[in-house]
Amino acid sequence: MNKNILIILTGGTIAMKLSEKLGVIPTSEFADFLKSFPQLTSTAQVDVLEFSNIPSPYMTPEKMFELARLIDLKAVDYDGLVITHGTDTLEETAYLADLVLTTRKPVVFTAAMRSGSDLGLDGPRNIIGAVRVACHPDSYDKGVLVVMNDEIHAARDVVKSDTGKVDAFISLGYGPLGSVDPDRVVYHRQTIFQESIWTDKLEPNIDLIKATAGMDARYIQCSIQHKAKAVVIEAMGRGNLPDYLEPDIRQALDSNILVVLSSRAYTGRVLPEYGYVCGGKYLQQMGVILAGDLQGIKARLKLMVLFGKYNDPLLVRKFFLDSIV
Ligand code: ASP
Repeated sequence: MNKNILIILTGGTIAMKLSEKLGVIPTSEFADFLKSFPQLTSTAQVDVLEFSNIPSPYMTPEKMFELARLIDLKAVDYDGLVITHGTDTLEETAYLADLVLTTRKPVVFTAAMRSGSDLGLDGPRNIIGAVRVACHPDSYDKGVLVVMNDEIHAARDVVKSDTGKVDAFISLGYGPLGSVDPDRVVYHRQTIFQESIWTDKLEPNIDLIKATAGMDARYIQCSIQHKAKAVVIEAMGRGNLPDYLEPDIRQALDSNILVVLSSRAYTGRVLPEYGYVCGGKYLQQMGVILAGDLQGIKARLKLMVLFGKYNDPLLVRKFFLDSIV
Protein backbone atom coordinates (compact mmCIF):
# COMPACT_ATOMS: atom_id res chain seq x y z
CA MET A 1 0.00 0.00 0.00
CA ASN A 2 1.22 3.52 -0.82
CA LYS A 3 2.59 5.53 2.09
CA ASN A 4 0.96 8.74 3.28
CA ILE A 5 3.26 11.70 2.67
CA LEU A 6 2.66 15.35 3.48
CA ILE A 7 4.46 17.88 1.25
CA ILE A 8 4.85 21.23 2.99
CA LEU A 9 5.61 24.12 0.64
CA THR A 10 7.65 27.10 1.81
CA GLY A 11 8.54 28.71 -1.54
CA GLY A 12 11.85 29.05 -3.38
CA THR A 13 12.83 28.67 -7.02
CA ILE A 14 11.02 25.34 -7.23
CA ALA A 15 7.78 27.37 -7.06
CA MET A 16 8.96 30.24 -9.28
CA LYS A 17 8.73 31.18 -12.96
CA LEU A 18 10.29 33.77 -15.20
CA SER A 19 8.36 36.98 -15.75
CA GLU A 20 9.79 38.86 -18.76
CA LYS A 21 9.55 42.18 -16.93
CA LEU A 22 10.57 41.27 -13.39
CA GLY A 23 12.87 38.28 -13.58
CA VAL A 24 12.27 34.99 -11.71
CA ILE A 25 9.50 35.46 -9.12
CA PRO A 26 7.14 33.32 -6.99
CA THR A 27 3.96 31.94 -8.63
CA SER A 28 0.87 30.45 -7.03
CA GLU A 29 0.71 27.47 -9.43
CA PHE A 30 3.06 25.07 -7.71
CA ALA A 31 0.58 23.42 -5.32
CA ASP A 32 -1.82 22.71 -8.21
CA PHE A 33 1.04 21.36 -10.32
CA LEU A 34 1.91 18.89 -7.54
CA LYS A 35 -1.66 17.70 -7.09
CA SER A 36 -1.82 16.69 -10.76
CA PHE A 37 1.75 15.40 -11.19
CA PRO A 38 1.21 11.75 -12.25
CA GLN A 39 4.62 10.37 -11.19
CA LEU A 40 4.01 11.82 -7.75
CA THR A 41 0.53 10.46 -7.23
CA SER A 42 1.71 7.01 -8.28
CA THR A 43 4.67 7.12 -5.82
CA ALA A 44 2.68 7.89 -2.67
CA GLN A 45 -0.60 9.08 -1.25
CA VAL A 46 0.24 12.78 -1.11
CA ASP A 47 -1.30 15.79 0.62
CA VAL A 48 0.04 19.30 0.01
CA LEU A 49 0.09 22.11 2.56
CA GLU A 50 1.37 25.63 1.95
CA PHE A 51 3.32 27.05 4.91
CA SER A 52 4.56 30.04 2.89
CA ASN A 53 5.50 31.02 -0.63
CA ILE A 54 8.64 33.08 -0.08
CA PRO A 55 12.12 33.24 -1.56
CA SER A 56 14.32 31.59 1.02
CA PRO A 57 16.47 34.71 1.65
CA TYR A 58 13.27 35.93 3.39
CA MET A 59 13.41 32.97 5.82
CA THR A 60 14.18 33.85 9.45
CA PRO A 61 15.08 31.61 12.40
CA GLU A 62 11.62 32.36 13.83
CA LYS A 63 9.93 31.14 10.64
CA MET A 64 12.20 28.08 10.57
CA PHE A 65 11.20 27.28 14.13
CA GLU A 66 7.50 27.74 13.36
CA LEU A 67 7.93 25.40 10.39
CA ALA A 68 9.61 22.80 12.61
CA ARG A 69 6.67 22.96 15.03
CA LEU A 70 4.26 22.42 12.13
CA ILE A 71 6.31 19.41 10.97
CA ASP A 72 6.11 17.86 14.44
CA LEU A 73 2.39 18.51 14.66
CA LYS A 74 1.65 16.99 11.26
CA ALA A 75 4.07 14.06 11.63
CA VAL A 76 1.48 12.29 13.81
CA ASP A 77 -0.82 11.83 10.79
CA TYR A 78 1.71 10.86 8.08
CA ASP A 79 4.36 8.24 7.32
CA GLY A 80 6.81 10.93 6.26
CA LEU A 81 7.09 14.58 5.31
CA VAL A 82 8.73 16.42 2.42
CA ILE A 83 9.50 20.12 2.69
CA THR A 84 10.10 22.21 -0.43
CA HIS A 85 12.29 25.24 0.18
CA GLY A 86 14.47 27.79 -1.58
CA THR A 87 18.04 26.62 -2.00
CA ASP A 88 19.62 29.79 -0.58
CA THR A 89 18.89 29.05 3.10
CA LEU A 90 17.82 25.42 2.84
CA GLU A 91 20.82 24.13 4.79
CA GLU A 92 19.94 26.44 7.70
CA THR A 93 16.24 25.55 7.90
CA ALA A 94 16.99 21.84 7.52
CA TYR A 95 19.64 21.97 10.27
CA LEU A 96 17.45 23.94 12.69
CA ALA A 97 14.65 21.42 12.12
CA ASP A 98 17.16 18.60 12.64
CA LEU A 99 18.02 20.00 16.06
CA VAL A 100 14.54 20.72 17.38
CA LEU A 101 12.21 18.10 15.86
CA THR A 102 10.84 15.42 18.14
CA THR A 103 9.47 13.14 15.40
CA ARG A 104 11.59 10.21 14.27
CA LYS A 105 9.63 9.80 11.04
CA PRO A 106 11.38 10.71 7.77
CA VAL A 107 11.57 14.46 7.17
CA VAL A 108 13.12 15.30 3.81
CA PHE A 109 13.91 18.76 2.45
CA THR A 110 14.19 19.37 -1.26
CA ALA A 111 14.39 22.28 -3.69
CA ALA A 112 15.28 23.21 -7.25
CA MET A 113 18.17 25.11 -8.73
CA ARG A 114 16.08 25.83 -11.85
CA SER A 115 12.78 27.67 -11.98
CA GLY A 116 9.67 26.30 -13.68
CA SER A 117 10.56 28.30 -16.81
CA ASP A 118 14.03 26.79 -17.27
CA LEU A 119 15.06 23.99 -19.58
CA GLY A 120 15.99 20.71 -17.91
CA LEU A 121 13.89 21.13 -14.76
CA ASP A 122 15.37 19.61 -11.62
CA GLY A 123 12.45 20.41 -9.30
CA PRO A 124 9.99 17.65 -10.30
CA ARG A 125 12.76 15.03 -10.22
CA ASN A 126 13.94 16.23 -6.81
CA ILE A 127 10.37 16.08 -5.44
CA ILE A 128 9.93 12.50 -6.59
CA GLY A 129 13.33 11.61 -5.11
CA ALA A 130 12.44 13.25 -1.80
CA VAL A 131 9.07 11.48 -1.64
CA ARG A 132 10.70 8.13 -2.40
CA VAL A 133 13.21 8.72 0.40
CA ALA A 134 10.41 9.79 2.77
CA CYS A 135 8.58 6.52 1.98
CA HIS A 136 11.62 4.33 2.55
CA PRO A 137 11.79 2.37 5.82
CA ASP A 138 15.55 3.00 6.16
CA SER A 139 14.87 6.76 6.34
CA TYR A 140 13.26 6.35 9.74
CA ASP A 141 15.25 7.91 12.64
CA LYS A 142 17.96 9.35 10.38
CA GLY A 143 17.47 12.99 11.40
CA VAL A 144 16.47 15.56 8.80
CA LEU A 145 17.52 14.61 5.28
CA VAL A 146 18.09 16.71 2.18
CA VAL A 147 17.50 15.16 -1.25
CA MET A 148 18.90 16.97 -4.29
CA ASN A 149 20.17 15.69 -7.61
CA ASP A 150 19.54 12.01 -6.73
CA GLU A 151 21.62 12.25 -3.54
CA ILE A 152 20.62 11.99 0.12
CA HIS A 153 22.43 14.26 2.57
CA ALA A 154 22.36 14.77 6.32
CA ALA A 155 21.11 18.27 7.23
CA ARG A 156 24.12 18.80 9.49
CA ASP A 157 26.64 18.17 6.71
CA VAL A 158 25.03 19.59 3.58
CA VAL A 159 25.95 22.96 2.05
CA LYS A 160 24.95 24.85 -1.07
CA SER A 161 28.33 24.91 -2.80
CA ASP A 162 27.47 26.52 -6.11
CA THR A 163 25.19 29.38 -7.13
CA GLY A 164 23.70 27.75 -10.20
CA LYS A 165 24.51 24.10 -10.86
CA VAL A 166 22.01 21.31 -10.23
CA ASP A 167 24.65 19.43 -8.24
CA ALA A 168 25.15 22.42 -5.92
CA PHE A 169 24.34 20.51 -2.71
CA ILE A 170 27.24 18.54 -1.29
CA SER A 171 28.24 17.19 2.12
CA LEU A 172 31.66 18.75 2.48
CA GLY A 173 34.32 16.39 3.71
CA TYR A 174 31.88 13.53 4.36
CA GLY A 175 29.88 12.79 1.20
CA PRO A 176 26.20 11.93 0.86
CA LEU A 177 24.42 9.32 2.98
CA GLY A 178 23.01 7.60 -0.06
CA SER A 179 21.52 7.77 -3.53
CA VAL A 180 18.11 7.80 -5.11
CA ASP A 181 18.63 5.25 -7.88
CA PRO A 182 16.02 4.40 -10.53
CA ASP A 183 15.29 1.00 -8.99
CA ARG A 184 15.59 1.86 -5.28
CA VAL A 185 16.81 4.16 -2.56
CA VAL A 186 20.27 3.11 -1.38
CA TYR A 187 21.95 4.20 1.86
CA HIS A 188 25.76 3.98 1.79
CA ARG A 189 26.56 5.20 5.29
CA GLN A 190 25.07 6.19 8.61
CA THR A 191 25.74 9.54 10.25
CA ILE A 192 26.80 9.35 13.88
CA PHE A 193 26.33 13.08 14.48
CA GLN A 194 22.61 13.09 15.27
CA GLU A 195 21.43 15.27 18.14
CA SER A 196 18.14 16.66 19.41
CA ILE A 197 17.64 19.74 21.53
CA TRP A 198 13.99 20.04 22.42
CA THR A 199 13.02 23.60 23.18
CA ASP A 200 9.88 25.69 23.00
CA LYS A 201 11.71 28.89 22.08
CA LEU A 202 14.71 30.33 20.25
CA GLU A 203 17.11 33.09 21.25
CA PRO A 204 17.67 35.18 18.11
CA ASN A 205 20.38 37.50 19.46
CA ILE A 206 23.37 35.45 18.25
CA ASP A 207 25.78 36.98 15.75
CA LEU A 208 28.09 35.59 13.09
CA ILE A 209 31.23 37.42 11.95
CA LYS A 210 33.54 36.33 9.17
CA ALA A 211 37.24 36.95 9.83
CA THR A 212 39.22 38.64 7.06
CA ALA A 213 42.87 39.66 6.80
CA GLY A 214 43.26 43.08 8.37
CA MET A 215 39.69 43.16 9.71
CA ASP A 216 39.00 45.60 12.51
CA ALA A 217 36.92 45.15 15.65
CA ARG A 218 33.79 47.04 14.52
CA TYR A 219 31.61 43.95 14.23
CA ILE A 220 32.73 42.51 17.56
CA GLN A 221 32.07 45.88 19.17
CA CYS A 222 28.63 45.96 17.55
CA SER A 223 27.82 42.56 19.09
CA ILE A 224 28.96 43.82 22.49
CA GLN A 225 26.85 46.99 22.20
CA HIS A 226 23.79 44.99 21.16
CA LYS A 227 24.27 42.60 24.09
CA ALA A 228 24.44 39.52 21.88
CA LYS A 229 24.23 36.30 23.90
CA ALA A 230 26.93 34.76 21.73
CA VAL A 231 29.06 35.62 18.75
CA VAL A 232 30.35 33.03 16.32
CA ILE A 233 33.51 34.06 14.51
CA GLU A 234 34.39 32.24 11.30
CA ALA A 235 38.11 32.34 12.00
CA MET A 236 41.04 31.52 9.76
CA GLY A 237 42.25 27.95 9.22
CA ARG A 238 42.37 25.82 12.40
CA GLY A 239 40.73 28.69 14.32
CA ASN A 240 43.08 31.68 14.41
CA LEU A 241 42.53 35.46 14.43
CA PRO A 242 44.62 38.64 14.17
CA ASP A 243 46.45 39.41 17.44
CA TYR A 244 45.14 42.97 17.79
CA LEU A 245 41.58 41.67 18.30
CA GLU A 246 42.56 40.25 21.71
CA PRO A 247 41.22 43.19 23.83
CA ASP A 248 37.89 43.15 21.98
CA ILE A 249 37.47 39.39 22.38
CA ARG A 250 38.34 39.73 26.06
CA GLN A 251 35.79 42.53 26.37
CA ALA A 252 33.12 40.32 24.78
CA LEU A 253 33.93 37.48 27.18
CA ASP A 254 33.94 39.88 30.16
CA SER A 255 30.51 41.08 29.01
CA ASN A 256 29.25 37.50 29.43
CA ILE A 257 29.02 36.93 25.67
CA LEU A 258 29.99 33.44 24.53
CA VAL A 259 32.61 33.66 21.81
CA VAL A 260 32.58 30.61 19.54
CA LEU A 261 35.10 29.90 16.78
CA SER A 262 34.36 28.00 13.63
CA SER A 263 36.53 28.06 10.53
CA ARG A 264 36.07 29.94 7.28
CA ALA A 265 37.84 26.97 5.63
CA TYR A 266 35.36 24.63 3.93
CA THR A 267 36.24 21.41 5.73
CA GLY A 268 38.04 20.24 8.86
CA ARG A 269 37.88 21.04 12.56
CA VAL A 270 39.05 24.05 14.52
CA LEU A 271 41.60 23.00 17.11
CA PRO A 272 43.60 24.48 19.99
CA GLU A 273 46.81 24.15 17.97
CA TYR A 274 48.49 27.55 17.69
CA GLY A 275 49.80 29.26 20.83
CA TYR A 276 50.59 32.70 19.40
CA VAL A 277 48.40 35.63 20.42
CA CYS A 278 44.89 34.88 19.08
CA GLY A 279 45.91 31.45 17.75
CA GLY A 280 43.33 28.73 18.55
CA LYS A 281 45.10 27.47 21.69
CA TYR A 282 45.56 30.99 23.03
CA LEU A 283 41.92 31.86 22.35
CA GLN A 284 40.68 28.68 23.99
CA GLN A 285 42.72 29.52 27.09
CA MET A 286 41.01 32.92 27.14
CA GLY A 287 37.64 31.14 27.29
CA VAL A 288 36.69 31.03 23.62
CA ILE A 289 34.80 27.88 22.55
CA LEU A 290 36.06 25.97 19.51
CA ALA A 291 33.17 24.58 17.45
CA GLY A 292 34.91 21.53 15.95
CA ASP A 293 33.77 20.90 12.38
CA LEU A 294 30.49 22.80 12.64
CA GLN A 295 30.12 25.52 9.99
CA GLY A 296 29.59 29.07 11.27
CA ILE A 297 25.98 29.42 10.09
CA LYS A 298 25.09 26.15 11.79
CA ALA A 299 26.94 26.97 15.02
CA ARG A 300 24.88 30.20 15.15
CA LEU A 301 21.61 28.27 14.84
CA LYS A 302 22.67 25.73 17.45
CA LEU A 303 23.44 28.53 19.89
CA MET A 304 20.00 30.05 19.21
CA VAL A 305 18.44 26.72 20.13
CA LEU A 306 20.63 26.17 23.22
CA PHE A 307 20.08 29.71 24.55
CA GLY A 308 16.35 29.32 23.83
CA LYS A 309 16.34 26.19 25.97
CA TYR A 310 18.67 27.16 28.84
CA ASN A 311 19.06 30.96 28.76
CA ASP A 312 22.23 30.50 30.80
CA PRO A 313 25.71 30.93 29.25
CA LEU A 314 27.26 28.34 31.57
CA LEU A 315 24.75 25.65 30.60
CA VAL A 316 24.97 26.61 26.93
CA ARG A 317 28.77 26.38 27.10
CA LYS A 318 28.54 22.96 28.72
CA PHE A 319 26.03 21.49 26.25
CA PHE A 320 27.74 23.07 23.24
CA LEU A 321 31.11 21.66 24.30
CA ASP A 322 29.64 18.24 25.09
CA SER A 323 28.40 17.81 21.53
CA ILE A 324 31.39 19.05 19.54
CA VAL A 325 32.78 16.69 16.95
N1 ASP B 1 16.71 32.49 -4.39
C1 ASP B 1 16.04 31.21 -4.41
C2 ASP B 1 15.55 30.89 -3.01
O1 ASP B 1 16.32 30.44 -2.21
C3 ASP B 1 16.98 30.19 -4.87
C4 ASP B 1 16.40 28.81 -4.95
O2 ASP B 1 15.38 28.45 -4.42
O3 ASP B 1 17.09 28.00 -5.61
O4 ASP B 1 14.38 31.06 -2.75
